[in-house]
Amino acid sequence: MTAQRGIPSVDLLLSLPAFIQLEEEFGHTWVVVVLREVLADIRKSIANGSTMPDQSHILDDLTERLCGQGAITLRKVINASGVLLHTNLGRSPLSMTSLRELSKIGDSYSNLEFDLTLGKRSNRSLHTQDLLVHLLDAEAALVVNNNAAAVLLSLSALAKGKKVAISRSQMIEIGGGFRIPDVMRQSGAKLIEVGTTNRTHLSDYQTAIDEGAEVILLAHPSNFKITGFTSLPSLAEVVLLANKNQVTVIYDIGSGALVDMTKYGLTHEPMVQEALKCGVDLICFSGDKLLGGPQSGIIVGKKALIDKIAKHPLYRALRPDKMILLTLSSTILSYLKGKVETEIPLYRLLSRTDEELFNTATKVIEALGTGTVLKGESTIGGGSMPDETLDTWLAAFTVPNPAKLLQKLREQTPPIIARIQKNQVVCDLRTVPIEDTTLMIENLHKALTATKENDEN
Ligand SMILES: *Cc1c(COP(=O)(O)O)cnc(C)c1O
Repeated sequence: MTAQRGIPSVDLLLSLPAFIQLEEEFGHTWVVVVLREVLADIRKSIANGSTMPDQSHILDDLTERLCGQGAITLRKVINASGVLLHTNLGRSPLSMTSLRELSKIGDSYSNLEFDLTLGKRSNRSLHTQDLLVHLLDAEAALVVNNNAAAVLLSLSALAKGKKVAISRSQMIEIGGGFRIPDVMRQSGAKLIEVGTTNRTHLSDYQTAIDEGAEVILLAHPSNFKITGFTSLPSLAEVVLLANKNQVTVIYDIGSGALVDMTKYGLTHEPMVQEALKCGVDLICFSGDKLLGGPQSGIIVGKKALIDKIAKHPLYRALRPDKMILLTLSSTILSYLKGKVETEIPLYRLLSRTDEELFNTATKVIEALGTGTVLKGESTIGGGSMPDETLDTWLAAFTVPNPAKLLQKLREQTPPIIARIQKNQVVCDLRTVPIEDTTLMIENLHKALTATKENDEN
């Protein structure tokens, strides 16, 4: 309690020349807000046993917060977790090529909805439409803010008041509260459950159609696997049955891989192109999972259906902004140019060699003079490809208090997100871009030193 009395008041500090200078630069109101945060943090650390910092310390802290990212809490982190599509860490990093495009139009007006030939209003979806059509050989395409929106919008526009058949094995929940049955209900579709949890037969779909189902919804169980006594008709069989009965097939393919993932030693992930070739009417997938672009939802398929979806009032609420359309266009262009592994960060990380990862881990350990290089396993994450791992190399640290080191790593600028494995703190090099290695070494050093000091106190 006595220490608390030592904390200077906001008014007192603001009367000092150095603080007055900051006020002139950043404005009274904002300086007071940030200063209160600084003082609150000091109060907390004193309660935890720290000593009262002097005024110059408070000034430095305040200056750093005002000049740095300040109140912008969304900031860069180094992902050393080994989870490639970490939903909590923003899934796919964006490509430099797409960011360069963004810098060209970000601060100016653009032809977002303007036809430069006719001088008339046009449609924003055209910017991505042609690229997606070329890449996927689809009739048409539409982009919305995420895949959850893509599924909700598609069902709302095409299945409202209609009976929609879905296999019980595909009534899935994706992280963040996305549950297929709830989304179906929200869209106004009438759900007909088909088959059992482990086995669904073509005849089950036939029964649903006989009961009046006008749409079949297929959903890729992205984040779990059913094994053992299971069965599910093939995509081609379902499409054939649906076509015979004039039933629409909508496929929520989830990640929507556009490249064959077996190339990276992973099991085959359903590909958008394959599903389109099978004749599926409509496919919904994410832009920031295995595609490696900005958060977005992509709907591709039959033109008549996409036109109907684009006219639905809900599209207005879910339409993407220019930053999404531009970064997505640029990402798709990387595919069209055959530059996936050089331009798209996710694929750069996926295609890193064992040798490169080992050498980087060794470099980290040698630079720090502590720790060991360990073989490890990275995962895909983002609710994709459960049980799938990629071989990797780890920088591993044995410390008295691993949780404390994890915390110290999170306190760095940029923070490092590592994990604990068998009581060691491990940094997986797979998810750390090679350009971030030096920064990671510096911050690891700082965190290790801070933890050591902590232990000695
Ligand atoms: C990830 C996923 C979604 C949700 O996609 P978002 O882009 O996160 O909205 C929906 N369905 C499936 C099958 C998924 O895997």
